[in-house]
Amino acid sequence: MILKDRIALVTGAGAGIGQAVALTYAQQGATVILLGRKSKHKKLEKTYDLIQEVGGTATIVPLDLENELGIVPDLVKGLYERYGRLDILVNNAGDLGSLTPLALYDNLQWEKVMRVNLTAPFFLIRELLPLLKLSDDASVINVVSSVAFKGRHFWGAYAAAKAGLVNLTETWSAELEKSPVRMNTVNPGGTATAMRASAFPGEDPQSIPQPHEITPLFLYLASAYAKEVRGQHLAARDWLGWMPGVN
Ligand code: NDP
Repeated sequence: MILKDRIALVTGAGAGIGQAVALTYAQQGATVILLGRKSKHKKLEKTYDLIQEVGGTATIVPLDLENELGIVPDLVKGLYERYGRLDILVNNAGDLGSLTPLALYDNLQWEKVMRVNLTAPFFLIRELLPLLKLSDDASVINVVSSVAFKGRHFWGAYAAAKAGLVNLTETWSAELEKSPVRMNTVNPGGTATAMRASAFPGEDPQSIPQPHEITPLFLYLASAYAKEVRGQHLAARDWLGWMPGVN
């Protein structure tokens, strides 16, 4: 139970990687705040039920990262009153947008992808910082993608936003150097989720890792094992099979 008594917030916790990370954290003793869209409440309830089944603790926060950031200050107040701090923040929620040549990219879609993938993590980090600073060792994990490091045709707004998130992580890390808050990115690598299927419809999902297989890096970064790890860009594929205290 390497996250015993830790308080973790995972965005996009109703499906895919976010669900697997939330479940892993709960299994390791963390109380997990499951953030996702109200319109997809059933998916958040599913994650909640999975956590209950393993004897974990979770709470649901419905919030649309595209257009409900205005209620984040209320969320911060509520979290402070209930938990007094935040130890782990995983900016996992993501919007793929459309795989389209830049010349044809729809303006509204561009705005949406930027809001969910870049503006929301920035805003959440900034607003939650006072709570993170109340932790003895706070870990922020920003979920990026291979296209963040090298643009590829048709990945448009998604790639640009994820590249922005890489840069944002470096800036935050530099500014938080002397604080208990450490921040890193995780590139999950191709993982069998709805988003992956939408980007690669012809791919056999059994040929790539499942969400629960890529959680070791998320666990490592959230734990005290990574206390000195700051401003790094890490790949989940390099951490498959990592187990605390074993390897
Ligand atoms: P999913 O589509 O399964 O999950 C995406 C999550 O983001 C969903 O839980 C979704 O919530 C949430 N989300 C989307 N828009 C919003 C919004 N406006 N407000 C709140 N939540 C929102 O995909 P993955 O699990 O694959 O993606 C997780 C992360 O991993 C993303 O950041 C993605 O970019 C990244 N990634 C994934 C890879 C892969 O191969 N799977 C590879 C590289 C990076 P809702 O339930 O409300 O739809």
